Amino acid sequence: RNLTDLTNLSKTEVKKFIDSFDVVLTDCDGVLWLDNQVYEGTPQVLNYLRDLGKKIFYVTNNSTKNRNDFLRKAEKLGFVSKKEEIMSTAYLTANYLKERNFNKKVYVIGSKGITSELDEVNIKYLPIGPDVMKYDLLEYIDNFKLEPDVGAVIVGFDEHISYIKMLKAASYLKDPDCLFIATNTDERFPVSNSSAVKPGSGAIVKCIEIGAHRKPLVIGKPETYIAQAVEKICKIEPQRTLMIGDRCNTDILLGTRCGYQTLLVLSGVTKIEEVQKWKESSKKEENDLVPDFYLNSLGDLLPLIN
Ligand code: PLP
Ligand code: CA
Repeated sequence: RNLTDLTNLSKTEVKKFIDSFDVVLTDCDGVLWLDNQVYEGTPQVLNYLRDLGKKIFYVTNNSTKNRNDFLRKAEKLGFVSKKEEIMSTAYLTANYLKERNFNKKVYVIGSKGITSELDEVNIKYLPIGPDVMKYDLLEYIDNFKLEPDVGAVIVGFDEHISYIKMLKAASYLKDPDCLFIATNTDERFPVSNSSAVKPGSGAIVKCIEIGAHRKPLVIGKPETYIAQAVEKICKIEPQRTLMIGDRCNTDILLGTRCGYQTLLVLSGVTKIEEVQKWKESSKKEENDLVPDFYLNSLGDLLPLIN
């Protein structure tokens, strides 16, 4: 992988690049928008690619929204999108259980994004409670009972993570037949306030994993279930598919694993200095994080294609 700066290419070379793929998988946060702020030019770039006949898929690790929420957000920010193009981890987690004809209940650490997708496929779950400790912990444990019929624990982003939730998850997971599914394992999420650090779902998954002595099945990037879901509804030639992302250890690694072309944008998590280091490294794990192409921002493609 060459780490080619797309802005160094001539218009003819950029056209050749655009002609080299038919399917685009794009990350959302850090590529198209940051929270509710759209990045300039990104709707125009995606809409241009769509007008050329490319298939577009939104592949996001964010488990806090359902597909309709994402669709509304994308449309509001100026993207032309369809529901079936949205590959989000809450949707795919529900879909995973549905594919397995799961007919028990789920214990969810997460938010409405997950439970609303479970509703869509008629999978039952225990209500998400505040689960804060109101009693003495030993007394709580003495009186603790498992709800019957729980067959899976799903862990996603939960801003109300608590010790009781950890205790419940680990207790359900004591049964080796209980499935342990994580929506994603992003360590941190980008924030616009540079004084703040926002620990991600990965931090939450890790604390359940350690307490439960078990490793989860991970639905989101860089694990390939999310790409397999795209491949189920769209014929894919890996070399003619482009993965766009802002985070190398999720987006670019997924692209590398699937044999897709990869484009890193520097408007989110990964910095170019890190990538240059991985490119020079003798370790394959680090080389796998290096994209074929990069741009400061996806909107920078606009002047190159007009
Ligand atoms: N999950 C949550 C809760 C987030 O806030 C974010 C980004 O801000 C993500 C996941 C990462 O989403 P994406 O894969 O679109 O970058
Ligand atoms: Ca991202």
